[in-house]
Amino acid sequence: MQTPKIVILGAGYGGLITSRQLEKTLKNGEAEVTLINKHDYHYISTQLHKTGAGTAPDEKITLHIPDLLKTGKVQFKRGTVQNVNFTAKKVQLESGEVIDYDYLMIGLGFDVSTFGIPGVEENAFKIKSFRSTKAIHNHMLRQFAAFKEDQDPSRLTFAVAGAGFTGIEMIGELIEAMPKLCRKYDIPVSETRIINIEAYETVLPGFDQKAIDFTAGYLRKNGVELMTSTKILECSPTSITLDNGEELPSRTLIWSGGVRGNTLLEELALPISKGRIVIDKFLRVKGMDNVFCIGDAALFLKNDGTPLPPTAQVAIQQAEVCGPNLVATLRGQQLKAFEYHHKGTVASIGNKAAVGKVFGLKISGLFAALMKQVIEARYLFVLGGPGLVIKQLFRAGKPQSELAVSKQK
Ligand SMILES: Cc1cc2nc3c(=O)[nH]c(=O)nc-3n(C[C@H](O)[C@H](O)[C@H](O)COP(=O)(O)OP(=O)(O)OC[C@H]3O[C@@H](n4cnc5c(N)ncnc54)[C@H](O)[C@@H]3O)c2cc1C
Repeated sequence: MQTPKIVILGAGYGGLITSRQLEKTLKNGEAEVTLINKHDYHYISTQLHKTGAGTAPDEKITLHIPDLLKTGKVQFKRGTVQNVNFTAKKVQLESGEVIDYDYLMIGLGFDVSTFGIPGVEENAFKIKSFRSTKAIHNHMLRQFAAFKEDQDPSRLTFAVAGAGFTGIEMIGELIEAMPKLCRKYDIPVSETRIINIEAYETVLPGFDQKAIDFTAGYLRKNGVELMTSTKILECSPTSITLDNGEELPSRTLIWSGGVRGNTLLEELALPISKGRIVIDKFLRVKGMDNVFCIGDAALFLKNDGTPLPPTAQVAIQQAEVCGPNLVATLRGQQLKAFEYHHKGTVASIGNKAAVGKVFGLKISGLFAALMKQVIEARYLFVLGGPGLVIKQLFRAGKPQSELAVSKQK
């Protein structure tokens, strides 16, 4: 009998942690496992806003995937998935290569929703991948350099669309980044503007009032112009049109208006709802026994009929069940139903502040910022054990916690 083939698409949190679970659970030679990803690095998507603002070095945000696969039980293949033939059980890569599978796990992550607002797709910057956020930082550097030549204020007007979780984290990093950039280009900070545009009445819609007030106060204290109850109607390379009639001269709109499943999912002949693949309680694609899907690509409905949010926390917990369920499927054993346990949510506002709730406890300020770093360290721990936590902590020369503490003085 041929060795069964397991193929994992995407090396985000979902794909990588499923791979680690398979490394732990599979016996030697029990299956051939291939992990396919666009790049040979995993980007820590929960920290992409730092790449966008340039507040963290690339080595802290990206991890070489082969280094994370330790046992030889999972083979890494660099490639971009183009399509899947579920009848023939074949994955088609953009390179033309075709990969056979017996069992498949789809962990292709998210795309950004721009809601068809004119000009946003073409002109706004997206917090989507390492490359897309690196493009934000490079663009900002070009704007600072060009301002020295033409003094055009639109160059130093940085707008973030959306004051939800990701938008606030992006704004927080811009607050951190601005003084350093101004020093580098010898431009007064007063020449720069950071604007946060949000269609809802408040920042962090869905958070409790205390967190909302803390965040709005912190942003204002740091010079951020908050435009709540304001919708973006259009975006051009040099301006943003708002529904209050204002034409905001800005060459940088960073879009964080919402996410949806990877657009590639719509090409696949699978049950899709709200851009995500509908899965059952065992994390299998509805109606399929050999295809699993987790993370942002998947739509998992809770008992009350509402979907789980697209978060790393969900992707990680699902991967911890998906790996053993893949093995149970190939062994013909009983599968485990997935249950989500929400541990909390903490949104950072730069290095020195954060807001959120952990294990039911509301937190804000510097303590919350430290808590956020503990959460990030836990993600690293799950990905690569204590060795990876220590390596990443000291990669930037100075550990993050030390940074936070030194700012207190
Ligand atoms: C700025 C920011 C901050 C966040 N903060 C938090 C937080 O604090 N807490 C939290 O719980 N969640 C947070 N999230 C959400 C979290 O990052 C996502 O929910 C999580 O990354 C989803 O994991 P995933 O494995 O489903 O997908 P992803 O991490 O998106 O991984 C998908 C992988 O698939 C690869 N891929 C995509 N298309 C192809 C293709 N065609 N072929 C091959 N490979 C492909 C990608 O390169 C990527 O490696 C944040 C997100 C952002 C953007």
